[in-house]
Amino acid sequence: MNHFIDIIIPVPLQKLFTYSITTSEADFLQPGMRVSVPFGKSKIYTGIVAKIHTDPPAAYEAKEIHQILDDGPIVNEKQLRLWQWMANYYMCTLGDVMRAALPSAFVLESETVITKHSKAIDESILKDDEFLVYEALQHQSSLKIHDIANILDKKNVLPVIKRLIEKEAIAVEEEIYEKYKPKLVRYVKLHTHYASQEALQKLLEDLSRAPKQHQVILTLFSVSATTKKPVKVADLSTESGASASIIKSLIDKGVLEEYFIQTDRVQYSGDENEDSKSLNDYQNTALIEIKESFKEQSVVLLHGVTSSGKTEVYVKLIEDVLSKGQQVLYLLPEIALTAQLITRLQNYFGEQVAVFHSKYSSHERVEVWNHVLNNSAKAKIVLGARSSIFLPFNNLGLIIVDEEHEQSFKQFDPAPRYHARDTAVVLSHIHGAKTLLGSATPSLESYFNAKQNKYGFVEITKRYNDVLMPDVELVDIKDKLKKKRMKGHFSDRLIAEMTETLRDGHQIILFQNRRGFSPIVECNTCGHSPQCPNCDVSLTYHQYRDQLRCHYCGFVEMMRKKCAACGSTELDNKGFGTEQIEAEVKLLFPDYKVARMDLDTTRGKYGYEKIITALEQQEIDILVGTQMLTKGLDFRHVKLVGIMNADNMLNFPDFRAHERSFQLMLQVSGRAGRTEERGKVLIQTYNPHHNILQQVSSNNYIDMYNEQMNDRYNFKYPPIYKQIKITLKHKDFARVDTASIWYAKALRSVFGDNILGPESPPIARIRNQFHKNILVKIPKKQSLGKTKEAIIKINNSFLSVKDFRSVKVILNVDNF
Ligand code: ADP
Ligand code: ZN
Ligand code: ZN
Repeated sequence: MNHFIDIIIPVPLQKLFTYSITTSEADFLQPGMRVSVPFGKSKIYTGIVAKIHTDPPAAYEAKEIHQILDDGPIVNEKQLRLWQWMANYYMCTLGDVMRAALPSAFVLESETVITKHSKAIDESILKDDEFLVYEALQHQSSLKIHDIANILDKKNVLPVIKRLIEKEAIAVEEEIYEKYKPKLVRYVKLHTHYASQEALQKLLEDLSRAPKQHQVILTLFSVSATTKKPVKVADLSTESGASASIIKSLIDKGVLEEYFIQTDRVQYSGDENEDSKSLNDYQNTALIEIKESFKEQSVVLLHGVTSSGKTEVYVKLIEDVLSKGQQVLYLLPEIALTAQLITRLQNYFGEQVAVFHSKYSSHERVEVWNHVLNNSAKAKIVLGARSSIFLPFNNLGLIIVDEEHEQSFKQFDPAPRYHARDTAVVLSHIHGAKTLLGSATPSLESYFNAKQNKYGFVEITKRYNDVLMPDVELVDIKDKLKKKRMKGHFSDRLIAEMTETLRDGHQIILFQNRRGFSPIVECNTCGHSPQCPNCDVSLTYHQYRDQLRCHYCGFVEMMRKKCAACGSTELDNKGFGTEQIEAEVKLLFPDYKVARMDLDTTRGKYGYEKIITALEQQEIDILVGTQMLTKGLDFRHVKLVGIMNADNMLNFPDFRAHERSFQLMLQVSGRAGRTEERGKVLIQTYNPHHNILQQVSSNNYIDMYNEQMNDRYNFKYPPIYKQIKITLKHKDFARVDTASIWYAKALRSVFGDNILGPESPPIARIRNQFHKNILVKIPKKQSLGKTKEAIIKINNSFLSVKDFRSVKVILNVDNF
């Protein structure tokens, strides 16, 4: 009998590919194992076995595989089911899903670039063919797979490469996220041996013969007594006048202990060292209700106000699941994955916590992958951003989706354009596990699902320790301008509150929903503003480098001295961003330390950490930032939050702008006053009577929900209707225009009025491609499956029109 396998390869083609295998290969292979295969004229791919069978393909002669790469499946059956669901639901190919799901070191293919491993190895462990490749890389910095095929004079080279990777002789090149090493700040403290009064007394006596060392110890005391902060080695050296070598000798003697804030926080090596906290009554009730709800529902929404102690409730649930020997996935938006939270969980669960996110190298990701695959004790709890739903769990008991309202759970580009929260619900279902969605400001869709009894629902309405919700004050800047009570972008109220807060030794966060100095440059004479040559968008001015930049394609040029249209030198900045606020604060409060947190200041693996650590260590008095500030941070000393301008988020052209503004403002406000003292929030706006602002200041989620849902009903938006966005792209406007009219007409013949468009988006051209959007609105009672089938049919006829073949079509399901 002839044997065949269907395999998934990482290319965006709809079908699986069938290859022929021998009988012994058929006995050995299992779904989820990797094979290397020839593809097209000369390409090589790594494929994942989906199915083993005996039916030859009808349309073509099946080629033979090159080789089997694994001894057992690296992707399990549950994952394959999830991949299949994602491909169907999000209307993409299994190849798209495979590419997103696997670390790049697992998917070797012709185009993969191989480099030397940074470590030297013992060459004697290499076989002959391995050595040839290894040696070639001593002379060349990198090789592609087909170069290696030439060196070895054979096609079948993936097994050799795989072995070399495993022996750490070579590595797969990837985007380098982290080119610099984080600067580690050295701190010192007195060794715990000297904690007692007597021991200390004795130490000072012993050191009396070494006056310089004696002086260092005394200085350490006085510095830490006055600043009440950890003491940096550098500061200790300056204050005591002792050289670095004197401090070092004290460290060597074991009198002082040095530590590094950065490594301390990110690389945890110890065991669990803390019991989980005992819950207060509100938390306890919530925990009981969640468990009760899980008896009937597989998904529960926990609506708990900021700082109500949701994390501690999660911890209790995690303990339960672990005690049953099951795995936990704890999903967070990328940016909320802070060292703060990681450390907190590691204190409870020690090495059982594994962290997975996109700033990790492929090597680190493979490591976590293998721990999860082997159900290792080192990855019982995976704390990760959206892509961690792809890990090879085999025994999940619980998925927590914290900050479930966050938009960053949705992947927009490339396919699969999935929403990690929704995918998590499906993943959980495949495992027979439970899902807990948590948020202080739930998304309308989740709240709606709870109201429909599709999800269970539990609330915590009190902050932990009965800390009051912050006092929110709206400041009318139109009025302030009229009365000349604005200094730059600061109202007299904001300045007064800031002055008082700083005087009392507390910290301030200022929120500005834009990065860059001033988004747009405009000519005062003719009104022209410099545009990106590749996109239909004005360039953004960045003061720090005196550059104009495009936020869509990355285009950069130096700031111009003269208007390109009329030659006038009167160029003006319109609008304002984080950089400008930072500059103004520095002028208003020259004696205080100001820092900025936005995409520009937080690049690199530790960029974000550094700023957060500095804020925690009270090295920063005023932090200016974008939405990054909203994410799950717990700062003790922040008392005042200022929202510089609420209007630009409220006026954003998107059906979720109001919901998002509410969430954003409430989340930022939640950073104020998390301990004893009540926090204060000042919101500056031109329109203080806006309903959303009223709802934010009274912390009234229900009002916001009801009002927004009303609009969603009236205008047929999610969660009332489902939505699929179809985007067509081409460099020739006329062609994409004709194509989109054709496409929309075909859709209308099936769906009638529920088709909107084609429309040019606000930014009609990006990277020299013109865009057209068509929106398909899907009433709840219309079958989603049938709708997608009809779209695929239309899409296929579209692609068979010769003129349209070069038009790129993007299908985005749940595009919001
Ligand atoms: P949320 O996630 O709801 O914003 P957190 O879980 O971060 O709130 O809790 C806010 C603060 O209260 C944290 O500093 C946390 O350590 C503390 N906290 C919460 N619950 C307890 C508890 N049961 N015992 C002691 N401290 C708690
Ligand atoms: Zn001009
Ligand atoms: Zn551009």
